[in-house]
Parts: sequence; structure tokens; C-alpha cells
Amino acid sequence: MDEVVAAHEVGLESMSASAQPVVVRMTGVRRRFPGPPEVIAVTDATLTIRAGEHVAIMGPSGSGKSTLLNIMGLLDQPSEGTYLLGGRDTTALTDSARTRLRQETIGFVFQDFYLMSGRTAQENVALGLVYTGLDARQRHAIARQALETVGLGHRVHAMPSTMSGGERQRVAIARALVNRPSLLLCDEPTGNLDSATSAHILEILAGLRGSGVAVVTITHDPMVGAGADRLIQITDGRTFDPEPEHVGRSRQAVAVGSDDGAPARLPSVVGVRPPADVGQPVPRPSDGGTPVIPRSTHSAWHVWSAVAGEAIAGLGQKVSRTILTLIGTVVGVGAMVAIMGLTSTAAGQIDASFTALEATQVVVNDAGTPSPGGFVNSFPVDAVDRAGALNGVQACGVIQPVPNATGVVATDMTPTSLGVNAPVYGATRGYFETIDATWSDGGPYTLFEEDENLPVAVIGASLARQLGVDRAGGTMFVDGFVYRVVGVVSGVSSRTEALMSVFIPLEGMQERYGQPTQFQRATMVIHTRVGAARLVASEVARALRPDAVDAFAVVPPADPPRMKSVISASMSALLIALAGVTLLIGLAAIADTTLVAVMERVGEIGLRRAIGAFPRHIMSQFLLETLAIGFLAGLIGTSIAVIGVLATAISLRWTAIIDPWIILAGPFLGAVAGLVAGAFPAWKAGRISPIAALRR
Ligand code: ADP
Ligand code: MG
Repeated sequence: MDEVVAAHEVGLESMSASAQPVVVRMTGVRRRFPGPPEVIAVTDATLTIRAGEHVAIMGPSGSGKSTLLNIMGLLDQPSEGTYLLGGRDTTALTDSARTRLRQETIGFVFQDFYLMSGRTAQENVALGLVYTGLDARQRHAIARQALETVGLGHRVHAMPSTMSGGERQRVAIARALVNRPSLLLCDEPTGNLDSATSAHILEILAGLRGSGVAVVTITHDPMVGAGADRLIQITDGRTFDPEPEHVGRSRQAVAVGSDDGAPARLPSVVGVRPPADVGQPVPRPSDGGTPVIPRSTHSAWHVWSAVAGEAIAGLGQKVSRTILTLIGTVVGVGAMVAIMGLTSTAAGQIDASFTALEATQVVVNDAGTPSPGGFVNSFPVDAVDRAGALNGVQACGVIQPVPNATGVVATDMTPTSLGVNAPVYGATRGYFETIDATWSDGGPYTLFEEDENLPVAVIGASLARQLGVDRAGGTMFVDGFVYRVVGVVSGVSSRTEALMSVFIPLEGMQERYGQPTQFQRATMVIHTRVGAARLVASEVARALRPDAVDAFAVVPPADPPRMKSVISASMSALLIALAGVTLLIGLAAIADTTLVAVMERVGEIGLRRAIGAFPRHIMSQFLLETLAIGFLAGLIGTSIAVIGVLATAISLRWTAIIDPWIILAGPFLGAVAGLVAGAFPAWKAGRISPIAALRR
């Protein structure tokens, strides 16, 4: 390397060309494009290019210049012949070895610049290092330096759209140089520029002379040809014009094929050097405009994070299209989440008429069958104590309609209207608690009154109003007996008929009117702690009568009556299927947009491949783009759906119930949809051949 630099200081012109290592050595290279019709674009190209040489290739359109350059740049392979790059036989290399060699050794400059709109000059130049494994900070530092060397230090953050053609080409040259190539290949670099601007570009290329980089320029422009150390004339094979005014420079003729399929062969006459120096390493320019920054942190991690960065940047560049692409997936995922959320929310609602008390009430009916001696009450005398001892029982009472009673109730206040027909019950005092009685006056009879068989009564508020005894302390007649009213029940949570009834202590009632009959049986009502009802129901019969469990029919509380789901199960299955179809449409939209984007970005793909991207980098970039689109769509759809379910629940005064897994599954579903949608376009993008991509 030192030797090379020393040589540059003396000046390339004065040096013997043979002192420089060979960069490019082609022998008998032929490129055949299988038809139909078959085209032989390059026929028997034999040439040698040395480090530091500036070579111009001139020839009419269609004469095979670009094909030759693509082969030189390892974008294409010869059908026949050998191509040694820096002494390495490239024809034997695998695809990935050629990609790596291309990334390390070659820089490209194209007529069309291939700058990415929406990225600053610096970002465009840094792109040249994306696949090298340098971290972003280093990439940008090198890019900035490279921009300075092409005279654009002041336009680092300019967008390509704000730059002139010449400036854009300078950005492209900077991008080609950041990798410190040994070989810079320029395909019509001034083809789109006016002559003044072209001159500037040529100056920049000429400025590379000190760096040792071999520069090969395809051109139509005689000015470009004149600036080169050597001119290689490419013709369709029939013309061979040594151009005498360029005497003093070496000349080389390359025979190339013609489209008519009758290629002429012309042996290469000049420039082939003895193979002595073949095999030397390709010199790496160390100064002269290419930045030298220590590169110690090459890593695969940086390559992949750079690829991810490219994917995100790709999305950011076409926000409106990205949003449009999202819609189908947003709706699909959103509808699924919303349907599931609404279904579970509706199904979780307890009917408004349901009260917690109902879920805590156990009713024990006497299911005894009449024996030959007559009907016998199944409830033992200490039934209330036995049931009350069960774990979870809060209150417990027994009630029995008065057997054979006329049920005539009267008061002493209204002797004239002796007769309101109202139901009369014997009830233990615990009964009032089980129906959650509230009292407008007084309360239940006391234990003492119960035990002593005192003639006391509790009366329902509606009946009391009718009879004019709505205060405790008054007296009333039941079936001709006098009772003292101790309490007026004004409200109950169940058994509202209590408000129209009279209750007297059960034991006293049974002494006066007799034991329950087959048709007027006793019933036990139990109020349990919340959640204990089922257990109490299963145990109570055994607690009451271990000897005759079958004597009771226990009615546990009904399950809380849930809202009949607004959306029936089959309906919701149908809606989910519809949402699935929407998701599929969304998926197709992503696939379609991505496919279009791949086709639109063929140039970008070609450029990336030229810069050193492997097919897997290209594929990953597009897959990451669709993955991100899908994930974003899933996230948006899920958020909208959750908000929708919440709003619905709030407006109906329901409790929103959404399985957290569904909320997590939404974005995941979107991401999977994105991956599936992106698979085919990404595969296609990875397969695009760089030469096809860069062809116009
Ligand atoms: P130049 O750059 O000198 O204008 P090219 O190298 O692009 O010429 O093309 C040389 C010839 O090879 C042309 O006739 C062109 O049509 C043909 N050619 C180039 N690439 C392909 C290809 N991929 N398939 C078929 N023919 C091709
Ligand atoms: Mg061309």
C-alpha cells in the first residue's frame, strides 16, 4: 500500500503502467442472453485495468458497454471466459462471495443517480455503508466526510429534490466512494447533465487519481473520453478505430457481439499484461478524498439493525399510502376484537331484575309423602336451630299457611267492615330476615313473645293501610282471636305477597290451628352468605333430618340470570367469519401494495444489490415493512375496538368485559397478517436480478 501511495506522489502519468497492480483482467469474456432471439452482447472481451488507471469505454448504443460494466461490477456473470478481479477468479465464486466482494471492492455511479427521494444527501451517501456492518453513527460520519470531498459539505441535509442534477450525481459519487472501492464503475455518469456540470463531475473523478482507485467510465461524451488515461473502443465488432490523436495513451479494442447474432471476433491487441502481478491484493485507496475512519465495529447486528432502519424509513417515506394500506387490516382485526369484546360484555351482564339476595336464598320444601296414619310434618321442632348451625347460613325461618283457617282479618278500628280476606301465616321470627324485610313501624316479634305463645302479629304494610292499623301497638282480629300488632313490614326483597299478609308466631299458630297438612305444608327459607348458597343447599336436608334426607326438596338459588347475549352464538360466528374475510381483504391489500412497491422500487433494489445487499437483506426489508404495517394495523384496530366496546358498555351502563388475551392477540394477528401478506412480494423482491433492476 505504501508503495502505491508513493507512486501516486510521483504522479501516475510518469509512471510505467505496469508498475501498478492489476485490478481487472478479462480474458475472452463473452455474454450471451438466451433468446429468443439470442443476443450476444459481449463477444471475446479481453482487457486489463490497473490500479489508479482511468479508463473510458466508448461505443455506440447497444454495443455492449453496460453489459461489460455489469460483468466487471460482478452484477452479471460471463457466459464464457474468465474474469479476475484483484487476482481472484470471480467466475468460480458463489453468489454470496461475489456480493461480498462487490461490497468491498466496487463502487457504482449510474446515469440516473438512483438517489432515494425523501432521504437527505447524507442519508443517501450513508446508504453505501448500510450492508457493511458499521453502526449508524459511523455511517453518517463517513458520509459527511465523503460529501465534503465532493464539495457538498454545505448540503449534507438537503433533499435530492432540492438539488441540481450535478449535485445529485456528486451525492451518488460520494455514495460510491464511502466503501473505499478499488474499482469505480460509472455508467454514463454525465449522460443527464449539461456540459458545464459534466466538467465538474469529471473534475471530481479526476481528483480521485491520487487515491489509486481504478475508474472505468462508460460514455458517449468525447470530453469524458479525452480525460481518460486510456480509451477502450467498443464496437459491434466490425469497427476498430485506434483514434490517432490519442497517441501516447494505451489503446485497447474489445470485440463485442452484435444483435444480429453474427458476432465478429477481434482479438484484444493492447493492454493485456503478463500475468506476473496477477494475484496481488486489490489496493485500497488510503487518501485522496475517500474518508478513512477506523472501522472496528463491523457486525452482523449492525447490518440487521440497518436493514430494519431501512424498512422503517421506507414506511415513513410513503405515509399516506401506508395509511391506506392499513385500512383493511385495521377493520379486519378491529371487527374481530370488537365482536369478541361485545359478545363477552353482553354475556357477562346480569339481568337488571336480579338481586344479590336471590343468589343467597335457599328454599327447603317439605316433600314428605302422606303415610297411612296421615300426613306428618317433615320439619323437626328444632329445624331453625339445625339449619342455622350450618356454615354460611345468615338467617333462617320457617313459614306455614294457617291450615283450615278462614283467613278473615279484621281490626277493632273498623268494626263495621269486618272482613278483609288476607292470607295468614305462621312464621318463625327469622323468616323476616330471610326476605330482607324493612319496617315502617315496630319489628318482628321477640323470642320471648314467640316462646310464650303470646298473641302477637306482624302485618304487611299494604294490608295494614287497608285495615287502618299501620302502627305497631294496635290490635286486630284474626279468625276471631285478638292479636297485638308488633311490626308493620313496608318492604321486602322477595315474596312481595308478604305486604298483603299477616304473620303470627309459628308455634302458637300450630297449637291453635294444628300441624301442617298435606296441602298446607311448612317451608323453610334460608338466607346465606354470598357464595355459600349451593353448599348450604347440598347440606341442609341432612342437617334437618339425617334419617330422612328425601323428605325435603331443596331449591338452590338460580344462577344469576345473564343477559341473553345480544349477539347469539351463531350470529357472532358469522360476524367473526365476516371480519376474517375483511382481514383477508386487508391482507390482500398489503400484498398488493407491497408488490406494486417492489415493482416501483426495482431501481432501489438494484442499487441496494449493487451496494452489497444480499437477497436476504432485500427480502427482510420488505418483510419487515409489511410486518410493521400489519402490527400497526392490528394495534390501531384493537385500540379502536376496545374504545368502541367501552363506549357501548358505558352507554348501556354495562360492565365491559374483554379478555386481555384478545387485546394482545389483535396486534399479533395483524403482524402475522403482515408477514403472510409480505411473503410473496418479499420473495419476489429478493429474486430481482440487479442487472434487470438497473436496466432502463
Ligand atoms: P450499451 O450499454 O452499449 O448501450 P448494452 O450492454 O446495454 O449496450 O446492451 C448490449 C446488447 O445486449 C443490446 O442489444 C441489448 O438489447 C442486449 N441486452 C442487454 N441486456 C440484455 C438482457 N438482459 N436480455 C437480453 N438482451 C440484452
Ligand atoms: Mg448502456
